[in-house]
Amino acid sequence: MGTWRLPDTQPMTAAENMALDETLLELKSEGKTPNTIRFLQFSPRSVLVGYHQSVAEEIRKGYCERENIEINRRITGGGAIFFDENQLGWEVICDKAFFNVHLPTRRLFKTLCSPVTTSLSLFGIQAEFRPPNDIEIEGRKISGTGGTDAKNAFLFQGTMLVDFDVDTMLRALRIPVEKLKAKEIDSIRERVTCLNWELGYTPLLWDIKSAIKHGFEKGLGIRLVPGEMTSDERLFFKKKRPHYRSRQWIDAVNPRFQKRDAVQSAYKAEAGMIRFTLVVNLPQKRLKDIYITGDFLSFPSRALYDLEAALRGSPLDRTHLHGIVRSFFDEKRITIPGLGFHEFVVPLDQALEKIKIADFGLSLEHCNLISVANGSFQTIIQKKPSVLLLPYCAKHTDCDLRYHKGCKMCGEDGCTMGPAWTLGLKDRMKVLSIISFEDLWTELQKMKKSGVPAYIGCCCQPFFAKHMEDFKKAGLPGILLDIDNTTCYDLDQAREAYAGKFESQTRVNLELLGTVLKAAFG
Ligand code: SF4
Ligand code: SF4
Repeated sequence: MGTWRLPDTQPMTAAENMALDETLLELKSEGKTPNTIRFLQFSPRSVLVGYHQSVAEEIRKGYCERENIEINRRITGGGAIFFDENQLGWEVICDKAFFNVHLPTRRLFKTLCSPVTTSLSLFGIQAEFRPPNDIEIEGRKISGTGGTDAKNAFLFQGTMLVDFDVDTMLRALRIPVEKLKAKEIDSIRERVTCLNWELGYTPLLWDIKSAIKHGFEKGLGIRLVPGEMTSDERLFFKKKRPHYRSRQWIDAVNPRFQKRDAVQSAYKAEAGMIRFTLVVNLPQKRLKDIYITGDFLSFPSRALYDLEAALRGSPLDRTHLHGIVRSFFDEKRITIPGLGFHEFVVPLDQALEKIKIADFGLSLEHCNLISVANGSFQTIIQKKPSVLLLPYCAKHTDCDLRYHKGCKMCGEDGCTMGPAWTLGLKDRMKVLSIISFEDLWTELQKMKKSGVPAYIGCCCQPFFAKHMEDFKKAGLPGILLDIDNTTCYDLDQAREAYAGKFESQTRVNLELLGTVLKAAFG
């Protein structure tokens, strides 16, 4: 049985924890330090984006600054996490040879999660590994894991939710709606749990650490002994600390673009969410810049930067772009556990589809607000959409018809419903207001039965992202235009909204609607 080191690292700032991670991994990869397991604790509380995520996309910076929540970026992939003084993390830093693999596999993540399920069982909690890399209790996540590598060494880390301040987490993180969609539920509280919620009390930190230590000793067949940092490690750590405090590190992933030059798309795969931001030179039909971000793990870490560099400057040609991405996957220059080439390019294709809409004279900013179901923009426009669907949330909150079908086009100030209705009628469309999710489904079925060739609808993008599959299943070609203002998703009121009870007012983007109707009817 091998002996591993278990240093007692105390709560630290986020920058210190990140610097220590690099220290342990780098010196392990040079064979200068023993295999190690350490616990992570943060003080002050922190939010950490994954290696491939951008702070601007994932974190509510203003809130965190006001509340003294530190912001930093991990050296490992995965999603953004909120780490207050109640959370405990664990890390495994070891030779790859110990696991006899060069790249992490699903099986390896299972092996790494099993010590934590063992430790939970010591508290009487039945937990399970959920591929690709989480631990859950009856469908609710209690621990997530991530990792990275350097030469012949791995660093894996995981979190153990001990107690959980959901409200602060929701305010500190921007939870992407595509993530909610994958889980098919709207509330964070229904998909995450913690020791306190499971047990009805918070166990002592010492007891949790002992249980995890026992789990790792049993699961990996090792003996953990207390150990200090070596003098090499202390020196390396001191040298690295300023780097992890710098903006250069924290904002290393930071898509910079003008809205008028860029389109974005996101896709939630089982292995994580992938976002593409394509900054384009339309006249030259070239990719000026590209940012691929998300909460997936990739090996080696910098492979994604190399892929972005290889794509930058390329012609906007799907086959050409696919060729570059495919070569990275085929030649194993990038490995994303649980995700292959075909899934990886789904959001790239979506973004390219948006760019094609510009051929109709639409600005890229407008193209970015358009989604399509069951056809391309071009084929749907050619079908001459005959129905316009408008959401009840755009009706004035004092309107008698707010929660009913119809609109009297009364000219009420601040209500975009009337003008949108008028635009539709002008192009001889049948205009319908949608008053609930059920109503939408019923109308789509009726439209299909009566031979409607295609439709144009207005809804928020989060709704479309969440129900893309439903729109496809309805079987009717449709163009969906984003609406303005705070959505029910921003306010965590999607349930109320689906039942037709959302009380805030959104706005139909009349300029966008007018432009699309012009493209369709001239
Ligand atoms: S325009 Fe239509 S929805 Fe808006 S207040 Fe008037 S009747 Fe109501
Ligand atoms: S999901 Fe909410 S904000 Fe979006 S269109 Fe429906 S009611 Fe409006």
